Amino acid sequence: MEKYDIIIAGAGPAGLTAAVELSNKFKILVIERRKPGTTSCTWYSYADRVKKYNIEEAVTTRFDEIKFTSPSQTHYMKDDCVILNHNKVLQLWIERARKNGATIRKETFMDYAYKDGGVVVKTGEDEYFARLLIDAMGTGSKIVAKYDLIKRHDAWVIYGGLIRHEKLETPYVLEYYPLNDVDNSYVGIHPYSETETNIYVFQGRSNTMGKPAELKGIFDKTIQKLHPNGKKIQNLGGTIVSGALKKYALDNIIFFGASGMLNPDGCGMGFNEILKQHQTFAKGITKAMKNNTLDQKTLSKIADSLRDQEVLNFQKIIGAFSLYFIKSKGKWDGGVKWLNAMDGESKYWMRNEFTMEWIMKATLRLHKVIPIKETISMIPMDNLPFVLEQLARFSVKAATSVVKNKMKKEAG
Ligand SMILES: Cc1cc2nc3c(=O)[nH]c(=O)nc-3n(C[C@H](O)[C@H](O)[C@H](O)COP(=O)(O)OP(=O)(O)OC[C@H]3O[C@@H](n4cnc5c(N)ncnc54)[C@H](O)[C@@H]3O)c2cc1C
Repeated sequence: MEKYDIIIAGAGPAGLTAAVELSNKFKILVIERRKPGTTSCTWYSYADRVKKYNIEEAVTTRFDEIKFTSPSQTHYMKDDCVILNHNKVLQLWIERARKNGATIRKETFMDYAYKDGGVVVKTGEDEYFARLLIDAMGTGSKIVAKYDLIKRHDAWVIYGGLIRHEKLETPYVLEYYPLNDVDNSYVGIHPYSETETNIYVFQGRSNTMGKPAELKGIFDKTIQKLHPNGKKIQNLGGTIVSGALKKYALDNIIFFGASGMLNPDGCGMGFNEILKQHQTFAKGITKAMKNNTLDQKTLSKIADSLRDQEVLNFQKIIGAFSLYFIKSKGKWDGGVKWLNAMDGESKYWMRNEFTMEWIMKATLRLHKVIPIKETISMIPMDNLPFVLEQLARFSVKAATSVVKNKMKKEAG
């Protein structure tokens, strides 16, 4: 049986970033059920992040704003945004991991068993041994499903494609807008070049992994309207899940990326969160491997280090609100109103870059655009006690801070 230090199941952004960071220190095997270097996702990110993490060569287009529309509102979120060639990003990481000595194979993870202080991983083809298994199988993780580890989850269900079309006459924009249909579908436009655009429709759902194919009819109608002569050259789609797991690690196994619920609540930015967190993750894993402390407790601490509890509490408020926005009378109006109220600082929500000061300001602005009476009717019943508690806590903190600042000013 071939022996490795670490086996990584799944060659999406989580598996491959981990493979790049860890392959210069450990003997790594990556197994991927699809052709490695391909994905059906599309990614927008930020100029500073792609530079910092050295994937600039995969950038296809650049924008200085994202346009959000709701039935009565428009918000232009100013930021240095980029659209990435999704397959190229993965291929870059594969090249780097292989250069460091990693083995990457097209095989499907089937199951695992504990043996000799590590795990034996069974694929459709073979069996391999490693001291640590990183589960980076995304929302389809067989281990998360096997142990029923999901505590709570919300989903953006997405169906779309890369569309080749005539050269656009007006400059294209990176945007999200509602179709105002009974299902509250939203459209995402990620322009790829002058003649190619990633277009998808998505819907928000609670407690489901969703069925993207169910959105095919709405997508086909949308494309017929936008690009009647367009041709779909690649399928896109999937489900972006956010929420919480009962456990983020088991003995000798840790979840990273979508399998570990790393996507921020209420915002489909899982790729960006992986970019932001993969080096911290790899540092924690390196230490645990060197100390040979691969028990559940130590690995759970590594998973916890990727999450700030106050940020999670605030994200849960936004998660609860965004699910409500799509069902509310104004459909999405509340959300875009809040983005407008945050003005130049709205981008920190999309980036998931929160300071406590920002969280406090965002809570007060939320109260400003949505009266408290409406807030209570907005939040799903099962989330109500927790979300109200967080809202109250952040509001008191914010109000206290406003008073303190005022007193400081008057004194000084
Ligand atoms: C259409 C779409 C648009 C998106 N847009 C953005 C965006 O603009 N910005 C952003 O930040 N995020 C975006 N996201 C979210 C982002 O793509 C995900 O959060 C991210 O891909 C999660 O990465 P991951 O590696 O954890 O999981 P995945 O990307 O799902 O990768 C998991 C990998 O594991 C493999 N796998 C699964 N089961 C097995 C098995 N049994 N054996 C072997 N391999 C297996 C899968 O084939 C897959 O390659 C988008 C998602 C979609 C679907």
